[in-house]
Amino acid sequence: MAQAVLQIDLTALQNNWRALDARSDVETAATVKANGYGLGAGHVAHALAHAGARRFFVAVAEEGLAVRAAIGPELPIHVYGGHMEGDARILRDADLIPMLNSVDQLSRHLEALPGHPFGIQLDSGMNRLGMELAEWEAVAEIVLARDPVLLMSHLACSDEAEHPMNAQQLDNFRYMTDGTDVPRSLSATGGILLGPEYHFDITRPGIGLYGGAPFLEALPVVRLAIPVIQIREVLAGESVGYGNTYIAPRDMQVATISAGYADGIHRALSNRVTLWAGDTPCPLVGRVSMDLLTIDVTDAPEPPDFLDLLGPHQGVDDIAALLDTIGYEILTGLGPRYARQYF
Ligand SMILES: *Cc1c(COP(=O)(O)O)cnc(C)c1O
Repeated sequence: MAQAVLQIDLTALQNNWRALDARSDVETAATVKANGYGLGAGHVAHALAHAGARRFFVAVAEEGLAVRAAIGPELPIHVYGGHMEGDARILRDADLIPMLNSVDQLSRHLEALPGHPFGIQLDSGMNRLGMELAEWEAVAEIVLARDPVLLMSHLACSDEAEHPMNAQQLDNFRYMTDGTDVPRSLSATGGILLGPEYHFDITRPGIGLYGGAPFLEALPVVRLAIPVIQIREVLAGESVGYGNTYIAPRDMQVATISAGYADGIHRALSNRVTLWAGDTPCPLVGRVSMDLLTIDVTDAPEPPDFLDLLGPHQGVDDIAALLDTIGYEILTGLGPRYARQYF
């Protein structure tokens, strides 16, 4: 089988949830948007519910379906994108709680689904989603009379503990919500680590569950093992791959393995990343192609059957650093072609 295998350690995921839960005295929910950060929303949500998560968050209503199917009818699922035109049926059928972002969404919701639970998302400074102060002040009385289940906002700089934006957003969120008596949520992974004043009633971590920064103690959750299709001898002076960008400096053994940029392994990693044959580092040589990578396995003690791109020696944040991006993007970019194996 030439299909690469993405092994997903659900026990590590559960332990990461427990570790984040232990960082606060409040309820720890789980953000499982973008198909559970690429790992499979149903599997991830099911495992987290078993670990003790009692509430889930997705980005768009459609994502709530797989989560609802995985966790059963009881636990609440919130939708960050709120109530969009055409969402009423799915919100009702899957029993999802839209986090309303504007007066428009509020009107739409009260009209289409009177009596259906909702929350409110407030903008405390990020200027991305949520009602701004003036908008909120205009409708707060109407909203509060209808028992919203949650008031939330989102921090723009929570991965930088010293950033003054954190305290500023905390002040704004307090100003908008103090005295309301409605459960509140401000923090994702980064905010949990900022300390108790950021915790309010519910936290909603994502990336830390999946093993990424800024939760540095997170256990790795993914291993990406890519099968070797063939190994050839390449003589000193010969080239490898498209564009002849790699010229062998010595006689070497080159393995051709079965994954490429179509699987989220960015072409910008050409000649720049190391894979692992067990504990032996093996550099990628030449260009990343759509379905294949070429790897110098000369130093491997025996010809490998698989090479790891992600695993104990290298996580999503290491790959992200090479590409000047963040682990979130590497994780959510892992393509649909991998066999996802859960254990
Ligand atoms: C994605 C997201 C989260 C989770 O953030 P992490 O940094 O992955 O923990 C929480 N809240 C909102 C509004 C989000 O968009």
